[in-house]
Amino acid sequence: MTTQHIIVMGAGLMGLCTADALEERGAAVTVIDARSGPCEGTSFSNSGMIHPSQAKSWGPQTQKRRLKSDIEAELYAASVTVDLGERSKTILLAKMEQLGFPERASGCLQILPDLDTARAIQASQKAIGVRTEVIMDPIDSFGLPACRYPDDRSGDARLFGCALEKDLSKRGVEFVYDAKDVRLRRDETGFRLNAGGVIFSCDQLVITAGTGSPDLLSQLDVRMILTNISGAAVDFPLPNEQDDFPSCPVMDTQSRSALTIFSDRLRLSGGWGLTDPAELVARWIEIAPGLMSRLGKPLSTWTSKRPVSPVGRPYISPTSIPGLWVNTGHGHMGWTLCAGSGELLAEMMLEGREDKRFAFAG
Ligand SMILES: Cc1cc2nc3c(=O)[nH]c(=O)nc-3n(C[C@H](O)[C@H](O)[C@H](O)COP(=O)(O)OP(=O)(O)OC[C@H]3O[C@@H](n4cnc5c(N)ncnc54)[C@H](O)[C@@H]3O)c2cc1C
Repeated sequence: MTTQHIIVMGAGLMGLCTADALEERGAAVTVIDARSGPCEGTSFSNSGMIHPSQAKSWGPQTQKRRLKSDIEAELYAASVTVDLGERSKTILLAKMEQLGFPERASGCLQILPDLDTARAIQASQKAIGVRTEVIMDPIDSFGLPACRYPDDRSGDARLFGCALEKDLSKRGVEFVYDAKDVRLRRDETGFRLNAGGVIFSCDQLVITAGTGSPDLLSQLDVRMILTNISGAAVDFPLPNEQDDFPSCPVMDTQSRSALTIFSDRLRLSGGWGLTDPAELVARWIEIAPGLMSRLGKPLSTWTSKRPVSPVGRPYISPTSIPGLWVNTGHGHMGWTLCAGSGELLAEMMLEGREDKRFAFAG
């Protein structure tokens, strides 16, 4: 058998996990990115939750009037995303252990306006196979009604991505950074890429370029629509006294943001269409005034856009062009789904697996 040479466009979580799964299956892989290192796009500063529990779409289709068929399609998208999320979580946790990341407390929490809403969410989560407990805990949920998802996990996505990139480099995966204006075209045997005058060719090409994916695909006359939805993050140094800090990440339903404690920082992040990090701080002062009053000056602020597919689940799929594949559109679920998405795509590309659950029609 000849070795397949595969180029992966994008060194975010999706590109790195795809490269990992392809290399494990014997491919020679090159990863190309416009930025100067791994995880510098949307994967840079996320909330760190590995949360299959949040598989239901956050839009954009939930904004419009919903017909029965829309609701059925949303339910289907959510349940296949939960399945992939659970598989992904298993692979991701094993990979984190292998790369030396310490185990973190399990679970994620979601604050809700009242106990009735929490119970209604518990029932709807059951329908897609998500284990949920309704709680009201003085520390973990700041005394507010909440759903607790004991099967969710968390971890620092960017640190993981950087460690995985190092590991992949040792295993022979080539990384090309600062490739600002890559031109793509098909040739007789596969694809030819021009990155600032340097020519690369490959048998198969994977687009994992997040919000940049539609532009790259359009060079090959493939049309993909993604809605790019902004979010933000504010990082604070950890105070010495942490006795009353929640034991796992806490989500706020109203602002679609989360408070996550990492080993060296506390992060407020999220928002759906939010571009001003100060709004996150204001909202978390309302939720947790005691904790927030003990934080010092922010270490950093950040804004970014999530690549969101319009079908309520990602595109992990072949395209109409033989040898051209996509793995993008993961929205608010990209950290949760990255390892499973990479594995699924690699199985389709190299092992002949057929799976239409995450099909892309372009
Ligand atoms: C505030 C916030 C909080 C979040 N919290 C969570 C969470 O708790 N849990 C969770 O599961 N998910 C979360 N997410 C979602 C998750 O972070 C994203 O889904 C994920 O990072 C997307 O990864 P990606 O690899 O597809 O995109 P990216 O990380 O953006 O990677 C794409 C890469 O492609 C490169 N690229 C683009 N265009 C080109 C081009 N033309 N040529 C070369 N390179 C190109 C970019 O430079 C980039 O490095 C959050 C997102 C945000 C914004």
